Order: sequence, then C-alpha cells, then structure tokens
Amino acid sequence: MKNICPVCGYDGLEEMPYDHDGNPSYEICDCCGFEFGFDDDSEGLSFEEYRKKWIEDGGKWFNPDMKPKGWDIKRQLLNINVQL
Ligand SMILES: [Zn+2]
Repeated sequence: MKNICPVCGYDGLEEMPYDHDGNPSYEICDCCGFEFGFDDDSEGLSFEEYRKKWIEDGGKWFNPDMKPKGWDIKRQLLNINVQL
C-alpha cells in the first residue's frame, strides 16, 4: 500500500503520516515539505492552509531529486480529491 501525503497527494511517503493512534511520523514530504507532527501540531497549520500556500508558491519540490519526470501537480492532487 502506498502512503499518500494528505497535503499534496504525493504517494511516495516512506511511512504513514499518522499511525492508527494518530501519532505523527515526523517525516517530511519530499514533495510539499510538510512535516507531520510539526507543521500541523507545532505550527498550527491545517493541510488546506499549507496546501494553498504551497500551490501559491508554485508547487515546488522540497527534495527536487525525487521529482519524477513529467510530474503533473494537477494529477497528483487528484490522489486526495483536490482539483486545481
Ligand atoms: Zn506532500
């Protein structure tokens, strides 16, 4: 099973962002750069707020080395039912 980022829809997370008890992984998404357990809990940002800012900033990859060829932000966002 793939682990999908609830912020940007990237499906390459190494761990589930939150376990069954709701504990965050503290993994940083290679795509949008959201850190589960930090940006939400410590910074108080919702997925929606972070996503909006990320898209407004041009949808840059946090780790550009992981960006697939022919990457399509619109298609990726459909993984989480977000339409641009
Ligand atoms: Zn992400």
